[in-house]
Amino acid sequence: MIDLRSDTVTRPTQAMRRAMAEAEVGDDVFGEDPTVRELEEETAALLGAQAALYVPSGHMANQLGLYVSTRSGDEVWAHEHHHLIGDEQGASAVLSRVQPRCFSEGVVPSDAQLESWFAGARQGNVHRAEPSLLWLENTFTGRVVPLAEQRRVTGFAHRNGMRTHLDGARLWNAAAALDVAPARVAEGFDTVSVCFSKGLGAPVGSALAGDADTVLRARRGRKLLGAGMRQAGIIAAGALHALRHHRERIVADHERAELLAARIDELPGLSAAAATNMVLVDTPAGRAAEYVDAFADHGVAALGDGSRIRLVLHLDITDGDVAEAAQRISKAAAQL
Ligand SMILES: *Cc1c(COP(=O)(O)O)cnc(C)c1O
Repeated sequence: MIDLRSDTVTRPTQAMRRAMAEAEVGDDVFGEDPTVRELEEETAALLGAQAALYVPSGHMANQLGLYVSTRSGDEVWAHEHHHLIGDEQGASAVLSRVQPRCFSEGVVPSDAQLESWFAGARQGNVHRAEPSLLWLENTFTGRVVPLAEQRRVTGFAHRNGMRTHLDGARLWNAAAALDVAPARVAEGFDTVSVCFSKGLGAPVGSALAGDADTVLRARRGRKLLGAGMRQAGIIAAGALHALRHHRERIVADHERAELLAARIDELPGLSAAAATNMVLVDTPAGRAAEYVDAFADHGVAALGDGSRIRLVLHLDITDGDVAEAAQRISKAAAQL
């Protein structure tokens, strides 16, 4: 099976396993795991932040980002399709007890949208929740959010006393696609979450970056959630290896996504486009599940619902796999 469901399905490479086996470790709850510290320091430096905190998942990095910038009852402004809104089990309501106000067009809210949302709050309207956090995602379902657009809305947020968070689960892909340093993508955000287990191919973990005070509060929050990890250097070593050795190869995933999209786009009934490491395929109305089943029967695993299928390129997929996947998909599509 050529598994294109997600970039989370990768296996650690031999070199990564060796780094993990040989990692120096200590008790990280006492702040004594040198490998975790190294990972946190290198991550912070890459993102242009003072500090970073290693956490088990991107979900937790996001929830801690929310936790450190809001009070119960506050509003967080986000897109209705952000991971925070649709894919975190309602954790924002359970843990930080905030309420979302969602935009649904584009990858960032428009100026008009921001102005109108803020108008009520600015007038001291007692009915309105306090808008305290603006949330963006980059990449957003594979799409790169232009840095000028990010700056425009983070600037608005800061001028109006709001804080800002970037869900950068695939920030490495955004930086590679824009050919800029990761710190450029992180500019303008008070907190940034990044994943080591997606495009970079590490087995476990994410990080939350920000200023030293904010990250200290997040460290307390991580303990509150019961996620103080002891000799976590074993898994942090995999993340550190990925950070050092797998960022540069991400452009190859993007090129392979372009190739695969072009091949699928030629097939009758399907239209496909690449967005960084993803191929987004539109099927005839409502038939995504049928196509996903047919692809699976021919040895390609994908995810899809409604009329949209997602194929994701990653560390374990070679040029040969892409050619083979294109052939199998072509045969599957011909039968429908
Ligand atoms: C995957 C993902 C997360 C969460 O990461 P997990 O490690 O799976 O919890 C958060 N945000 C975005 C945009 C993601 O794609």
